[in-house]
Amino acid sequence: MKRLSVVGCLLSVALIGVWVRVGPVPPIKAETTPVVTDRNGVVLYEPLSRGGTRSAWIANVPENVARATIAAEDQRFEHHIGVDPIAIARALVHDVRHLRVVEGGSTITQQVAKLILPPRKRTIVAKIREAIVALRLEHRYSKREILTMYVNLAPYGQQTIGIARASDRYFGCAPDQLTIAQAAYLAALPQRPSGQTAMARQRMILNRMRASKSDFAERLAFNRGAHPLLAPHFVERELALGITHTSLDARLQRQVEGIIAAHKANLLKHGAHSVAVLVLDNRTREPLAYEGSGDYFGENFGGAIDGVTTPRQPGSTLKPFTYAVAFEQGLTPATVIADVPSHFATAEEGVVYTPRNYDGRFRGPLRIRSALAGSENVPAVAVLSRIGPATLLRFLREAGFRDLNHTADYYGVGLTLGDAEVTLEQLVRAYSIFARGGDGIVSTRTAFWITDILSDPHAREFIFGSGGSLDFPFPVAVKTGTSQAYHDNWTIGYTRDVTVGVWVGNFDRSALRNSSGITGAAPIFHDVMLAAAKDHGPIVDRPADLELDPICALSGHRPSIDCPNVEQEWLPANAPVQFCSWHHADRVELPSEYRALESSQFAVRSSQRLQILSPANNTTFLIDPTLHREFQELKLKATSSVTWTVDGRPTNDEWPLRAGEHTIVATDSLGNRDSVRITVR
Ligand SMILES: [Zn+2]
Repeated sequence: MKRLSVVGCLLSVALIGVWVRVGPVPPIKAETTPVVTDRNGVVLYEPLSRGGTRSAWIANVPENVARATIAAEDQRFEHHIGVDPIAIARALVHDVRHLRVVEGGSTITQQVAKLILPPRKRTIVAKIREAIVALRLEHRYSKREILTMYVNLAPYGQQTIGIARASDRYFGCAPDQLTIAQAAYLAALPQRPSGQTAMARQRMILNRMRASKSDFAERLAFNRGAHPLLAPHFVERELALGITHTSLDARLQRQVEGIIAAHKANLLKHGAHSVAVLVLDNRTREPLAYEGSGDYFGENFGGAIDGVTTPRQPGSTLKPFTYAVAFEQGLTPATVIADVPSHFATAEEGVVYTPRNYDGRFRGPLRIRSALAGSENVPAVAVLSRIGPATLLRFLREAGFRDLNHTADYYGVGLTLGDAEVTLEQLVRAYSIFARGGDGIVSTRTAFWITDILSDPHAREFIFGSGGSLDFPFPVAVKTGTSQAYHDNWTIGYTRDVTVGVWVGNFDRSALRNSSGITGAAPIFHDVMLAAAKDHGPIVDRPADLELDPICALSGHRPSIDCPNVEQEWLPANAPVQFCSWHHADRVELPSEYRALESSQFAVRSSQRLQILSPANNTTFLIDPTLHREFQELKLKATSSVTWTVDGRPTNDEWPLRAGEHTIVATDSLGNRDSVRITVR
């Protein structure tokens, strides 16, 4: 009986022993928090885990780290079974003397146990529990494996977990590149008794390691930089998609951020607080640089909003698509469009749309090359009214403008002047269609013509001048835009290899001051393009069926001997030839639509009877919100020299549009009169 109970006792002890040794251990999660990198592996951002830390798991402990860690934490590590009775005894004496439980006496294995167990209050029970798990860990894993767990799980301060992130954070290197002095410094960090500096503890650890004089003498060079955060809007977007190896070019991104910073003062002068920049690789269609607001952490102006994906009014940046559709339908850059006071029907009965150019002037017959390059509004609307808003809308949606949810009637002919809303990303992607030679959406011929016009500094000179932000030492196709009432300012352009888009504005939609396509976004575009473009050659290949033909600069037709100005244009080789019929030996005969346009160049013989030529009687005008008030002027024209009154008040021949019904009277020196009535809305 006695014997049996002794056996039972021994059996129980043995069973407990077995349970202690082989019982369960908590799961060990080899966690590596993501690192978002650019295309070359350069770190853009290191997100924090839910616990607010960054970690990375390494498979093997480098020798210097192993030696330093053992010296710092647990000098008898190689010899104990998971708990160290000598250390425990020493800690117990300490605890009894101070009447409380303090840290210490824990082996590296016990610390691993503590790190993998759920956190709890530091009690004797907790310590016993850790000791049991430590015994189990020793039963299952080799010493080296346990040491690996420790250096991967230990907190090294600065929100880092594990030696891999710590060596990068403190010394900017991988753990196997740490010197003995550096390894000793890091080993001092996880368990630093209060009052002891990390450097003092490093000295103690080096002592224990019996380090050489040169190890002691090494001056530690710390990596003082903050955690990198490049392209935060883009990183946020990629992380949401689970992408960590991104297409971005960190070097270019830094340049873009520097360019924005350099232009900040000028932007503020124009009342613009935000700027978005997107650089697209035309071949892969992936972003190379991406700036959402110019100031991610700026709270006052919505800095966290991503301006690359926020819908805004595009202004004139949609005009190339209008002309692209026109080219697809048979027009050419030599086709002449009337830039004259014109009224276009709207979906609303009895209401006409009266587009104006930015400078309030009309230029008579204008070839599409000049009309597009100079961004004249009247010809763009004239072309759109010819192709129809529904056709353009269909094309724009196909080109990727997915926010155009209204009907063609809703947008009307204002669609080409940017009444709809699009994003910078959509614009950049749509322009890159031309850069890729049409992409099957438009013909290579149309892509070539649009590109050739937008990269023709001579063609835009009559409006934009030369030598400014739109001129480059290599071919760049470029278009500017300004939205209604100057809320948004854009410049979009491309070379063969990249498409660059810049938006300048305010997320609260407050207006810009004195800003046009040239003063706001264009200078930033200029610098970004210089930094981004590597291919300085021709942008797109010229289709073989186009040939350089002479044309009359005015009519766009083949010149006759009477045409004073001859230019050259790329035209289809097989197109029927039509000679200029406007220029004659003794006179210029313009088609009737230009008769009302008064100009020394196109002198029009008037009839003797006084007559108001513009505006026409009973016209309704809409005030065009895309223009400055000073350009909202009605040009008054009569068949001879007259004085003008509007509603009885004298005015010159440029009358600022005012809402209401008005009577306009012209009186010549002989007292002849003519009058018209108009409505302005
Ligand atoms: Zn001619």
